[in-house]
Amino acid sequence: MNIDFEKLAQKYNTPLYVYDFDSIAQNYNALKDAFAGKKSLINYAIKANSNLSLIAHLASLGAGADCVSIGEVKRALLAGVNRYKIIFSGVGKRDEEMQEALKLDILLLNLESEAEMVRLEGVAKELGMKARISIRVNPNINPKTHPYISTGLHENKFGVDIESAKRMYIYAKRSEYLDPIGIHFHIGSQMLDIEPLKEAAIIVADLAKTLKALEIDIRFFDVGGGIGVRYDDEITIDPKEYVAAIEEATKKLDVTILCEPGRSLVANSGWFVTRVLYEKNNEGKRFVVVDGAMNDLLRPSLYGAYHKIEALKDGTKKSKADVVGPVCESGDFLGKDVLLPQLEHGDLLVVHSAGAYGFSMASNYNTRNRSAEVALQNEEEMLIRKRECFEDLIALEKEYLDALSLKEE
Ligand SMILES: *Cc1c(COP(=O)(O)O)cnc(C)c1O
Repeated sequence: MNIDFEKLAQKYNTPLYVYDFDSIAQNYNALKDAFAGKKSLINYAIKANSNLSLIAHLASLGAGADCVSIGEVKRALLAGVNRYKIIFSGVGKRDEEMQEALKLDILLLNLESEAEMVRLEGVAKELGMKARISIRVNPNINPKTHPYISTGLHENKFGVDIESAKRMYIYAKRSEYLDPIGIHFHIGSQMLDIEPLKEAAIIVADLAKTLKALEIDIRFFDVGGGIGVRYDDEITIDPKEYVAAIEEATKKLDVTILCEPGRSLVANSGWFVTRVLYEKNNEGKRFVVVDGAMNDLLRPSLYGAYHKIEALKDGTKKSKADVVGPVCESGDFLGKDVLLPQLEHGDLLVVHSAGAYGFSMASNYNTRNRSAEVALQNEEEMLIRKRECFEDLIALEKEYLDALSLKEE
């Protein structure tokens, strides 16, 4: 990494997100190359980082999109993703979202319950359309990841069990308004072990074979996302190993493989840059207070997630400190027991691996403006989202306050 964070921080101010588009392209192409020669489509999971320019960058490389709200579908389309490369997943879709997705003619809607299927059938009937669908199967496999990001067990809210899925496919096949063309699973995120994925793929491929025997024409086999990345010293799944496992499970099926990587395409291509406000010491406990906080980067607070934090300034005398933000919550920290040199007001800290589930999870909690986002490509930098200002934050409330004060006069 050879990024002049100080220069960027001076120009765009802090806190700031910085993304390396060349590194994102490398990640995408490594996976694409691993799939070479196979019918496949990489649907980038928009929720990992939904910046329009970042989506457009991946779209220009050929990526499709995995969306979990109609808003994400519209982002994908706006950013130039081909409509037939867009899928719409999610455990609860509103009628309006279904209607809009059908009208937008995307590749398919991924269904997660029988109730949702019946609902979609009704919506499609009203529009006089036939909805292309896939069904999210829950293979009851433990992905051995953090419980909050595990999704493939029956105790999780996602998908349907094998028997229900079979019933749903048979129902859909008979319906005038449903066209079952895909099968889907996604067992969790930040997976470091290929075995659970392999097991799940075998179980779901078996179901796909049964369905084909029932003349239900499954053309898309979607293995979800969840490829883990290195935050600390994790050993991750190699793209070739990943593709080989999927191939092995699906070798007797004539299908197009879909996958939905989010984190693995963008996490390590992003940094969160924050300035030190001051140091403080509470009876021996050292805190470094910075201008970035949990509203900017939630993962440490939400999952206790680890991000490497580095001071740009060198110092020989390092000691452990908690890096905390200004938000009024004890859970507001970016790192705990981080080895850091003595720091002064204005020194920069760089939080690594912040490209996924960073900005996309940011909020305005404590009436804090969300950060700016900058991208680097071919040695050039470009602003891809400007910093919010106070007026942005109050825009949807202001008129009511004005109306209220008129009434009270
Ligand atoms: C979140 C999610 C993904 C992306 O997961 P990553 O761990 O970021 O790769 C893919 N598919 C579905 C259905 C998801 O919910």
